[in-house]
Amino acid sequence: MIVQMKPQASKEQFKRITDFLVAKGFGIKDASSETNIVFGIIGDTKSLNPTDLEAFEGVFQVTRVSTPYKLASRSFKKEDTVIKVRENIFIGGNQFVVMAGPCSIESFENTEEIARAVKASGASILRGGAFKPRTSPYAFQGMGLEGLKIMREDADKYDLAVVSEIMSEDMIEAFEPYVDIYQLGARNMQNFHLLKQLGARTKKPILLKRGLSSTIEEWLMSAEYIMASGNENVILCERGIRTFEKYTRNTLDISAVLAVKELSHLPVIIDPSHAAGKYSMIEKLSMASYAVGADGLIVEVHPDPEHALSDGAQSLKLEKFDHMMQELTKLSKVLDKKI
Ligand code: PEP
Ligand code: MN
Repeated sequence: MIVQMKPQASKEQFKRITDFLVAKGFGIKDASSETNIVFGIIGDTKSLNPTDLEAFEGVFQVTRVSTPYKLASRSFKKEDTVIKVRENIFIGGNQFVVMAGPCSIESFENTEEIARAVKASGASILRGGAFKPRTSPYAFQGMGLEGLKIMREDADKYDLAVVSEIMSEDMIEAFEPYVDIYQLGARNMQNFHLLKQLGARTKKPILLKRGLSSTIEEWLMSAEYIMASGNENVILCERGIRTFEKYTRNTLDISAVLAVKELSHLPVIIDPSHAAGKYSMIEKLSMASYAVGADGLIVEVHPDPEHALSDGAQSLKLEKFDHMMQELTKLSKVLDKKI
């Protein structure tokens, strides 16, 4: 349930109604902006009557949120959420943020070469998996904690932030010193325990990938799990969904960006690599992502894709990534978000 106060409502009037609700055992989520006092009531609000609450002085209107996700909904918060990753890196504002790096961290030297190149081309965040969710148990599973340490060191050298996937709650505290963003992979989008634990145990942003066969509503409910557990810094990532099509690895649902922007205030980025599964399609899909209004990209790159330990077929060579960044820069002249 959302309560919107009148423009001239005072802090005392706000306090009177929130004290009343807190005394009844409800939680309050303040979503006020500079000009508007708006707050959400957390808890089972069936027993509350909107008309009773509208009788409080200073209240303009009380509405029930009909969506199963609330904190993540556009009706709860009208303004776009801008997530601060660190100084000068904001996701969801007027910047188009590019995250790039290998599928898996393979070695210090390999990661360093990639970090240097993607920074020079204009990326601001280094991606890379150290704990890999591989379909086959015999495929390379990632370097583990050692991989995270390598990433941090190479990223710091080139002033890049770090995003890496976490697969288990056991690792939350171990990840904390090494990552700027926790990546929650497609296969774990509905691992509700992990969502709750991440929400409660870190304040750093969480990149929530859309599940392989998840609807947009299910995806937003997963974001809600994280937010309701205490961390509202959720960045959504469309990475392609399973359809009957086999030519591409997955089907990139480009309209998901528009749907998310209508339904939610959270930022949304695109992963064209896992969507297409083919390096030849990445540049054009990235341009489409930028044009449709996504807040950024996460792209796989590798200096020698033929010998990459995972996802070589969809990884861009460093020169190809640089070319893509130049094309995006040209596009930036006609778009609101700058690269
Ligand atoms: C990845 O980013 O390396 C990855 C495994 O992605 P997804 O969870 O989207 O499959
Ligand atoms: Mn990958």
